[in-house]
Amino acid sequence: MTDLYRFLPEEMEQLVIDMGYPRYRADQILLHLYYKFPKNISDIKQLPKQLINDLIESGYTIGSAKETHRIVSEDGDTTKLLLSLTNDKSVETVLMQYEPSKIGGHQRSTICVSTQIGCAMGCTFCATGQMGFETNLKAEHIISQVLHFAELLQQRGQHVTNLVFMGMGEPMANYDEMIRAVKVLTHPRGFGLGQRHITISTIGIKSGIEKLAEENLQIGLAISLHAPNNELRKKLVPTATFNSVEEIIESGYNYFKKTGRRVTFEYALMSGINDSPEIARDLAKLLHGNGSHVNLIPINPTAGDFTRPSNNRVHEFERILSSSGVNCTIRIEKGTEISAACGQLRTDVIGQFTKKIS
Ligand code: SF4
Repeated sequence: MTDLYRFLPEEMEQLVIDMGYPRYRADQILLHLYYKFPKNISDIKQLPKQLINDLIESGYTIGSAKETHRIVSEDGDTTKLLLSLTNDKSVETVLMQYEPSKIGGHQRSTICVSTQIGCAMGCTFCATGQMGFETNLKAEHIISQVLHFAELLQQRGQHVTNLVFMGMGEPMANYDEMIRAVKVLTHPRGFGLGQRHITISTIGIKSGIEKLAEENLQIGLAISLHAPNNELRKKLVPTATFNSVEEIIESGYNYFKKTGRRVTFEYALMSGINDSPEIARDLAKLLHGNGSHVNLIPINPTAGDFTRPSNNRVHEFERILSSSGVNCTIRIEKGTEISAACGQLRTDVIGQFTKKIS
């Protein structure tokens, strides 16, 4: 079975032409896929019966995700779904909504997608990292997470405005499927989301950052740094042995030079581990003058032994970076109480879900 959501518009054209149909049939399929959210090929009513039959008989399918559970935060801004995919795996996907009054401008509806089930990177402060790696997701599985929320938002008269690859998994470790999903989701004849509205977050896999820089896309890049030196970083990111802090910062700078997109360094602040004024000064020295931005994330209460620093400590860290000329913000927390915030996606929640729906 081949999922039609895998296809780039050019590939869809080739598919219908190879089957003996005119090119415009591809546009009819694409319009339905991305605006009407059909669940079966036979739902695409504009297509001739023969084409529908030919597609089905040739093993093509439409693999939408099925929602098996939903948790909404008290303020209603964060929704976490457990979605069952066509590979029989369950994945968590999160919608974060930001009211214009809180951020200025228009309402933002950001989807946080997963690219893998589990993760092999093993970050010690991350719930997903503690469960290990299970499998890579295909492009269609990544796309179906976005489309499930897109349909939900459409019913409310809203739409997806932003997409972050910050859910379960390391996107660069599933590069080909991740980038195929990005190309379909940003193609004007696909889902049509602006490239600048997408951010890919990586633990800092240099080869992946270099490849992404060559794609000629305007995608935002976030690199999870968490420490200004290799010794401390290895304790937090055990797989960090293959790229040093210096190499990661250099590849971020090269990405900025190549794409013109400012790179964000994510820094999870953990009390007594990486939040001291000395460490802030070391970080400032490393990043000063390279055009990057630091996003400070006071750590979420995950399964690990780490605790969140006090507000004073967080603001002191920020002050040191800012006064050294390093652009810096403290991330607005979303969805902590429903375990939807960064680093909290984990399959033991699936156990809770199962209990609730059975
Ligand atoms: S923080 Fe990201 S890269 Fe690290 S284990 Fe968690 S999901 Fe994987």
